[in-house]
Amino acid sequence: MQLDMLVVGAGFAGIYQLYKAREAGMTVRVLEAGEGVGGTWFWNRYPGARCDVESLDYSYSFCRELEEEWEWTERYASQSEILSYINHVVDRFDLRRDIQLNTRVASAHFDEDRALWSVRSEDGEHLEAKFLVMATGQLSVPQKPDLHGLDDFKGQWYHSARWPMEGVDFTGQRVVLIGTGSSGVQMTPIIAAQASQLTVLQRTANFSVPAHNMPFTPESLKAAKARYPERRAMGREAITGVFLNANTKTAAEMTEDERIAELEYRWKGAGGGFRMLRAFADLMSNLQTNHLVAEFARNKIHAVVKDPRKAEILSPKPDLPYGHKRLCGDTHYYETFNRDNVDLVDVKAHPITEITPTGLRTTQGHHELDVIVFATGFDAMTGALLAMDIRGTGGQSLREKWAAGPRTYLGVSIAGFPNLFVIAGPGSPAALSNVVHSIETHVDWISNFIGHSRSKGTRRIEAEQAHEDQWVDHVNEVANQTLYPVGNSWYLGANMPGKPRVFMPYAAGVPAYRRIIEGVAEKNYEGFAQV
Ligand code: FAD
Ligand code: NAP
Repeated sequence: MQLDMLVVGAGFAGIYQLYKAREAGMTVRVLEAGEGVGGTWFWNRYPGARCDVESLDYSYSFCRELEEEWEWTERYASQSEILSYINHVVDRFDLRRDIQLNTRVASAHFDEDRALWSVRSEDGEHLEAKFLVMATGQLSVPQKPDLHGLDDFKGQWYHSARWPMEGVDFTGQRVVLIGTGSSGVQMTPIIAAQASQLTVLQRTANFSVPAHNMPFTPESLKAAKARYPERRAMGREAITGVFLNANTKTAAEMTEDERIAELEYRWKGAGGGFRMLRAFADLMSNLQTNHLVAEFARNKIHAVVKDPRKAEILSPKPDLPYGHKRLCGDTHYYETFNRDNVDLVDVKAHPITEITPTGLRTTQGHHELDVIVFATGFDAMTGALLAMDIRGTGGQSLREKWAAGPRTYLGVSIAGFPNLFVIAGPGSPAALSNVVHSIETHVDWISNFIGHSRSKGTRRIEAEQAHEDQWVDHVNEVANQTLYPVGNSWYLGANMPGKPRVFMPYAAGVPAYRRIIEGVAEKNYEGFAQV
């Protein structure tokens, strides 16, 4: 079958891309590996999963009526509510008929003579399309450590991103949870409340702030919705694509008392979550300012966690800047370590040595167990793209091209891979933002570019090598002016053994990025060959 466009992935990105392509009168199909739509929110069903950007912002903005009619019940919506919302969008806009589930794309090869993408699924189905849009997600390929003995473990084990549909009942179970990123932090309090014993294995302490999640009342939701257009407009101009009431002053421009008051306001009362990252204008560029915020957070941990041994393990080390990994937003995470049935092991100091039939061994001792939970993250940003055999002009494979790290022009296009676009790809600010906002920005821009190309009758649109090189240099230059490229974050690929260490997101922020891509469009898509 030959289509105008094939989209891979049916999460927020693929669904909106389908909507836009339909609107433009294109023939389009979405191929999705999962047995349902929703992407992240289909797969990550672990207890406590919810968004870390407020629901009102972590949702599509393209349709005013949709915003009005959907009723979020909580400030930070749960996984099931977000999944219901996505399904609602799919049905409301009659998108389901162009989404093919249970179809994992294995390869995509560009046929130069016909200027078509030839796409094959793992089941051998073959489709062709003029445009290929990769909406495969930045965090869609789970990573699990290769632990010796897991196959012989007599209990159950689960990964946060491949959670069973029917859920898991931890009642009376002895559980080990490996990993303390956002997923581990969200599930810890809930597993602790069910399990007879929970032992959290932490390799690197992470920064987490209270999310201050709360239900909407009919009145509070009505009041928030009354200001929706203004809220969205402020989000567009905020560095992370969501309004966080950023302080425009650097720490040095404030007195000690003002600094503390600013931090307390953000920790306790300002709506929680990411607002901490906007406490000072120079938080992610000035080490001294960053230390101040990190020290504030460490003091908070010590104030909450009663056992000084646990508090010390949970306190991020001073060599790791605040916010260098995506900040976690939690509900009673630190308080959970005051429970008698919750223990904490520093597996950097006492590494895991093996899984045994009845438990898990570290260099410190053996834990008898019923369940192991992996909250060990993802092969982020490049994992899903490189899992496919993607070949562009001259048969060049993406795996070869990206062997030393990903290279894109503007985070959406790859030299040598004509008529192919990536949504929220490496080299874009998506990972450091409200990702739904970044997705909409990308899809709108890609759709305009394709519309422009179709109106001019061009066969091929392709990033020029020189412009891609300049963009990669620019992304690196911006990253090096920040405190991001340290530690072992997934932004750097450093969470994956053997992956090249390259800072992948564009750190100049969403508005700056949007102005660049809009400028490129205004100059007849500068940097793209259009033939
Ligand atoms: P995804 O939702 O990841 O969808 C990609 C889809 O592509 C998947 O369904 C996958 O099965 C499919 N796919 C991949 N490869 C193939 C293939 N070869 N063939 C066929 N199908 C394929 N971001 C925020 O901004 N705020 C949040 O609060 C937030 N919370 C998150 C919580 C969790 C637990 C996780 C893991 C991520 C979170 N994120 C959050 C990031 C989140 O991934 C994005 O916000 C957003 O959902 C990504 O949408 P997407 O459509 O780009 O990708
Ligand atoms: P993550 O942030 O990459 O965290 C993985 C955790 O597992 C880290 O603590 C890591 O330790 C640990 N780990 C990995 N391999 C290990 C090993 N071999 N032994 C011991 N520990 C190991 O993954 P995540 O928590 O799934 O989150 C990924 C991203 O998804 C987040 O950054 C966020 O963008 C998104 N997310 C958002 C939310 C939300 O709040 N809405 C929830 C979940 C996920 P090290 O740090 O030492 O590597």
